[in-house]
This record gives sequence, structure tokens and C-alpha cells, in this order.
Amino acid sequence: MIIIMKPGASEENIRNVAGQIEEKGLTVHLSHGTEVTIIGVVGDKSKLQGSNLEIAAGVDKVVAVTESYKLANKKFHPEPSSVSLSNTSVGPENLTVMAGPCAIESSTQLMETAFAVKKAGATVLRGGAFKPRTSPYSFQGLETEGLKYMKEAREATGLSVICEVTSARAIEDAVKYVDLLQIGARNMQNFELLKECGKAGLPVLLKRGLAATTIDEWLNASEYIMAEGNPNVILCERGIRTFETATRNTLDLSAVPVLRLKTHLPIIVDPSHATGVRAYVEPMAKAAVSAGADGLMIEVHP
Ligand code: PEP
Ligand code: MN
Repeated sequence: MIIIMKPGASEENIRNVAGQIEEKGLTVHLSHGTEVTIIGVVGDKSKLQGSNLEIAAGVDKVVAVTESYKLANKKFHPEPSSVSLSNTSVGPENLTVMAGPCAIESSTQLMETAFAVKKAGATVLRGGAFKPRTSPYSFQGLETEGLKYMKEAREATGLSVICEVTSARAIEDAVKYVDLLQIGARNMQNFELLKECGKAGLPVLLKRGLAATTIDEWLNASEYIMAEGNPNVILCERGIRTFETATRNTLDLSAVPVLRLKTHLPIIVDPSHATGVRAYVEPMAKAAVSAGADGLMIEVHP
């Protein structure tokens, strides 16, 4: 449920309404827009029966939020949000490029890539230290050693750095070395991992699940992170599995405008994992920007 205040509502009006809600044990989320303030309510709204918030001073209207995700919902927070990093921010004010290798392989490989992507305009270095491989016999990542290389590359270049985490132990380790955590497609509905990320204190880039997950399920996954008190979530479309085999996945660019109507969270598109073919990355990157993405994630290898 949201309470939309009148354009002229005073601070006192807002405090009074928020106070009535909190008194009933519900949580309040304020969104101060340029015109109006919106008070978002999270919790069991039946507790508000008899409160008559509709007629409280300064209230314009009370609207039910029917979607199960609330904090990620655009109705709660109509203005687009952005996520601040030390060297940039991810949101509508920038076109952020996150680039780097799939897996961190060595200090030299990462450092060389870091300087190259910085020169090309990227502001965030990506690289996997924990790799969620289809086969248990594939290289699983350098783990802590890789995280240390990430930190070195960050210090040498000033880029922010992002690394995927695959377990609670990986989170515990990664927070010491990186600026953003990434949840991979295979873990989009790993709810325990999402909750741990919500508590980790770093921004989280949440990739869309690769098979049979809807946009609403994706937004509910982001809600798991936000409900732990972490508002800094970035969504990343990386292609979904369809019957087409000419590309690795099918890049669902319509997800960008769909998300724009449903959520305030920043949206990044990853054309590398979506297409799996170098020649398709550039045209789909351009298409993603045309569709309104706030940035791109691109795999780069020297
Ligand atoms: C990755 O970013 O290297 C990765 C494994 O991506 P995804 O989770 O989208 O498959
Ligand atoms: Mn990869």
C-alpha cells in the first residue's frame, strides 16, 4: 500500500501519517519526489483497519500495491534510483560500462584488462573469482587469490570492481576486496544467497535467471535483497533460454522497457552472455542502449 501526499503536505503531515503506520508495527518507506511525497507501507496492512489514513491531513490518496514486490516497485519510488560507487554511479545519469574477463586467471591478465577497459571508457571492472560452472571439472575460479588481484586492479586504476558470489562464504570473502557483488543467473532464486547479499552492505547486481523465470520473479528476487535493508540493487538482463540455438541465449531487450514501468532500479544489459558470439556483442550493446538501459556488462579478454 502507498499513501500519496498532497503537493503542499507539510513535514508534520508526513510525520503524523508515518507515525500512525509505525505505531501498528508496519514499516514505512518515504520517497520524496520533486512534487509529492509517497509513503510506502510494508507489512500486514489489515493492521491499519480503522486508521482512516485517507482523511488524515495532507493525504491525497491511498493506493493498494497489488504486486508482491514492494521496495523494488515503481509505485513505491516513482523516480529512477541510482547506485553510488566511489568513481561513478549506476543509474539514468550515466551510461555505465562494466567490463572485464569472465574468470580472473592471473594478476597480469586482470591488470592488463583493467587498463584496457579503463582506456575504452569503462568505469567498473568485472571478473569472476568464484565461477558457477555447468561442469564440476571446469575451472572453478581463483577464489580469494582472484579477489586480491581485483583489489590490486582497483587500486592501480581507480575503477570500481565487481565479482560474482556463489555462497555465503564467498560473500564473507568478497566484501573485503570488491565494491559490488554479483548474483549470477543460476542463483537468481537462491533465496538464502539473496538474503545474505542483502546483509552484506555492498551494492548487488542481480542477473536474470536463465530459464523459465519471469520478470515478476526477477523483481521478487530483488525484493529479497532489499527486504534485508539493502536498497542498492542493479538488475542485469543477460538473455534467457529459448529454442533458438544460433545464439547462446536469447537477449530479451523488451525486458528493459517492461522493467522501466515496473521498477525504479537501474537496469544493465549483458550482451556477452546473452549472445555468446563476439560479432553479436556490439550490435546488441547498441540496441540495449537504444532500449533505455543504464549500462552494459561486457566480457573482455586480452
Ligand atoms: C558471468 O558473469 O561470468 C556469468 C557466469 O554470467 P551469468 O550468470 O549471466 O551466466
Ligand atoms: Mn562469463
